[in-house]
Amino acid sequence: MHYLDHAATTPVPAAVAAVMTEVLTQSYGNPSAQYALGRQARDLVERSRGTIARALACRPEQVVFTSCGTEGDNWAIRAALYQNRRVGKHIITTAAEHSAVLQCLKKLEQEGYAVTYLKPDGMGRIAPRQVEDALRADTALVSVMLVNNETGVRFPVEEIAALLKNRDTLLHTDAVQGFLKLPFTAQSLGADYITLSAHKIGGPKGTGALYTGGRTKNVQPMFYGGGQEAGLRPGTEPTAQIAGFAKAVELRMETLEETRRHLAACRAYALERLGAIPDLQTVGAGDAPHILSVSLPGYPSQNIVSELSEKDICISAGSACHRGRASHVLTAMGLDKKTAAGTVRISFGPETSPADIDALYDALLAHKNTRFPML
Ligand code: PLP
Repeated sequence: MHYLDHAATTPVPAAVAAVMTEVLTQSYGNPSAQYALGRQARDLVERSRGTIARALACRPEQVVFTSCGTEGDNWAIRAALYQNRRVGKHIITTAAEHSAVLQCLKKLEQEGYAVTYLKPDGMGRIAPRQVEDALRADTALVSVMLVNNETGVRFPVEEIAALLKNRDTLLHTDAVQGFLKLPFTAQSLGADYITLSAHKIGGPKGTGALYTGGRTKNVQPMFYGGGQEAGLRPGTEPTAQIAGFAKAVELRMETLEETRRHLAACRAYALERLGAIPDLQTVGAGDAPHILSVSLPGYPSQNIVSELSEKDICISAGSACHRGRASHVLTAMGLDKKTAAGTVRISFGPETSPADIDALYDALLAHKNTRFPML
């Protein structure tokens, strides 16, 4: 198997699975229980929070565990709008956000909010100037992702934060694809809310975290129930997932520079090998070391993905979330129809080897040589 879809999800290392098994079978107490088993579980949650906080260089109480990146995005947006309900009902975002942000904003439009969608340029980039020009007196929130999940392009979150410094407008960033891939801290980004997800960095699916810092005040929960997570996120803590998340972060932190170099080397090697395929184009000015977007113009990406799948090679068509529909990101970038239709996303992890990339090269070349392009 050649797994080249780490931006979709990642394998859980054995050490992470071992920690999770231990929690599920031995340290399974409810963190709210008063006896020793419960206190042990509480400790585990708090130690895990400390680990995530260290990775963001923030205070532990600024980290709240969620069920996933999607929840973090929805919650941050709703909480920011509640805090700024007197500022107004205008939101600025980009047309290239993940659907966890875009679908939430679509719903908010139905509820009476006005949303400005900034268009990326042909290389997938967003300029701070676009945000500056879109700001209005009633802009309550700017939500701009750190790394685009389809192109790997990094958006200028720090510069946007600087623009908002003297305003009430809050800043949320979906850092799901940037976390432990590109260097940043909560402070260096300057965002008020930062969304993270565990399963993109070797953690389990079903958990994530939301950083609530900066100028956030009186953060409102999304759900109502027990007093877990300081009353901000009720529901019995999924202790195995949380511990697995923290273990994955710990492992990635220990090997951060080495992994970054490895991912960048994989990307460079893939660029070099795939670059030899006639007509193959790179898509976007990707900055993230783990994502490479390329197109075989005219060769529908769904066909490429299914043919490669028969050879045990896993890549995704634009974005794993679209399932056959034209990608909103590539459409917003203004890519012509053939280039957009032929775009695939290749993404790397610590486990990726040159042999995976060689297999991808052979399979893509064979596809190109044996299929007819669309007219
Ligand atoms: N945001 C981005 C940029 C993503 O890539 C993803 C996952 O694909 C998400 C949010 C959603 O995260 P989760 O799968 O944890 O809900």
